[in-house]
Amino acid sequence: MVNMWDVIIIGAGASGLMCAIEAGKRGRKVLLLDHAKRAGQKIIMSGGGRCNFTNLYVEPHHFLCDNPHFVKSALSRYSQWDFIALVDKHNISWHERDHGQLFCDDSAKQIIKMLLDEAHSAGVKVQLQCEIFSQQQLSDNHYSLQTKSGSYECQSLVVATGGLSLPKMGATPLAYKIADYYQLPVKATRAGLVPFTLHQAQKEKFADLSGISFPARASCDIKVGKKTKQISFTEALLFTHRGLSGPVILQISNYWQAGEPLILDLLPKLDLFKELLFTQQKRPELGLKTLLSQQLPKRVVECLLESAAINSVPLKQYNEKQLQRVSELFHQWQPQINGTEGYRTAEVTLGGIDTDVISSKTMQCKSVQGLYFIGEALDVTGWLGGFNFQFAWSSGWAAGQVV
Ligand SMILES: Cc1cc2nc3c(=O)[nH]c(=O)nc-3n(C[C@H](O)[C@H](O)[C@H](O)COP(=O)(O)OP(=O)(O)OC[C@H]3O[C@@H](n4cnc5c(N)ncnc54)[C@H](O)[C@@H]3O)c2cc1C
Repeated sequence: MVNMWDVIIIGAGASGLMCAIEAGKRGRKVLLLDHAKRAGQKIIMSGGGRCNFTNLYVEPHHFLCDNPHFVKSALSRYSQWDFIALVDKHNISWHERDHGQLFCDDSAKQIIKMLLDEAHSAGVKVQLQCEIFSQQQLSDNHYSLQTKSGSYECQSLVVATGGLSLPKMGATPLAYKIADYYQLPVKATRAGLVPFTLHQAQKEKFADLSGISFPARASCDIKVGKKTKQISFTEALLFTHRGLSGPVILQISNYWQAGEPLILDLLPKLDLFKELLFTQQKRPELGLKTLLSQQLPKRVVECLLESAAINSVPLKQYNEKQLQRVSELFHQWQPQINGTEGYRTAEVTLGGIDTDVISSKTMQCKSVQGLYFIGEALDVTGWLGGFNFQFAWSSGWAAGQVV
């Protein structure tokens, strides 16, 4: 006998769970499949175990997508306020951090429990450790799936298998393979929200700074149509054994292109040149290193001055041009970026299924009746700060209304 379902969702992550809940609430018979042992593995490890589940200030410009309008419909119909209401309904206490980021007070596990409880109440069947062997469209709104747990058929097939980041946690390219099967375009993928590695010489020089963190501004050029403009983020920078990380690096990694310069302002709140000239007048005997170490960790100052072959002597011994050079070194440091740490540590995948072939209202594929793509599998990537989960909730919700 055919094992028939109204809706089958592949991927019990953030978007898949939300879609399953909404479809189940509408009385649809929903099967949620995942090859992992547990649902929502990335939710559990997100936000350092506290899950940065959304952001108070969600705007379309917080998302990278070749069609900047694509995210608007889903985000406005299921907003951060809707998800906050759900969290509140389950009495999960939360707090706001910088830039409107919302985290659980206690544990990300509460978000998983909330979603699984909701799915259970909506009558969703969750089948874990289920490997998908193949899928095919039998006709419009009729699909068949061959899996480790048996064969299934459904009217609506929702692909919610996310991107390629953290392959150890079960990430696979299944969504892109399914897209390929239906001849749907996929935008080139690469690791996003990811630390940078430095070229060997700089890596060795700066390895000692590993663990040091302070606020910095990262900037790079981006192409907008035919024009080039600069994008910048100001947040914490962290030196690592391999290179550079911290929120400021993760944010800019979504925009930085290999081979392009990355500019770091290590003193974003100070006009260093003015400060140097002023202090030279007031305290001419003060050493350059001593002055700079009042603003930045001493080891960072030493490393940077050494890398630029600038000796530290009393301020009175520098001419204006030399002080200008010091100022540029700290305000416009250009680290020699080798690349990124890749999908091994990336939080997200840039690129994905071209949104031109997807309805922004329903997430249904325009050319294949009954086939849906939601969440990170799509060519939609949010900034750091809860935006990626919000798009997963919103796109899952949007599909959940119609599947
Ligand atoms: C370490 C880390 C921390 C993060 N922290 C945050 C944060 O705090 N805030 C935020 O907004 N975003 C965060 N993100 C990003 C966020 O987790 C993702 O953007 C979001 O989970 C995407 O949801 P999704 O449903 O599209 O995919 P996922 O949540 O990745 O779910 C995909 C599901 O599909 C399953 N799957 C994959 N391939 C197959 C297959 N072949 N067969 C069957 N099942 C399959 C997977 O097991 C998984 O359960 C973080 C990501 C990482 C890696």
